[in-house]
Amino acid sequence: MYEEHRTQLESLKKELEIRIVKARASLSSRRSADWSEQATERENDEVLMELVREAEEEMLQIKRALATMDAGKYGQCTKCGEDINPQRLSAMPMSTLCIRCATEHSS
Ligand SMILES: [Zn+2]
Repeated sequence: MYEEHRTQLESLKKELEIRIVKARASLSSRRSADWSEQATERENDEVLMELVREAEEEMLQIKRALATMDAGKYGQCTKCGEDINPQRLSAMPMSTLCIRCATEHSS
């Protein structure tokens, strides 16, 4: 049960790790002497930082989902304990909240 989801989560995690490493690498590698180029680089860096933040946030969610899997509680809402809709899990295997709790959380 849920082996497909685990495989999906593991490969997603690897993808994110690569994305984070790449973004970090291009962050530190460039330092132009040209003032106007520096401004452009700073803007690019901000975009990259944002990407890293998003990827790390997603990574956290995946790790949380994998942890619930290891605990044998995958597919249950970590907040209210209700079963998470299987369709929601297929679309977003890193979900650890049911739709209701996720909506409450974000609003
Ligand atoms: Zn819930």
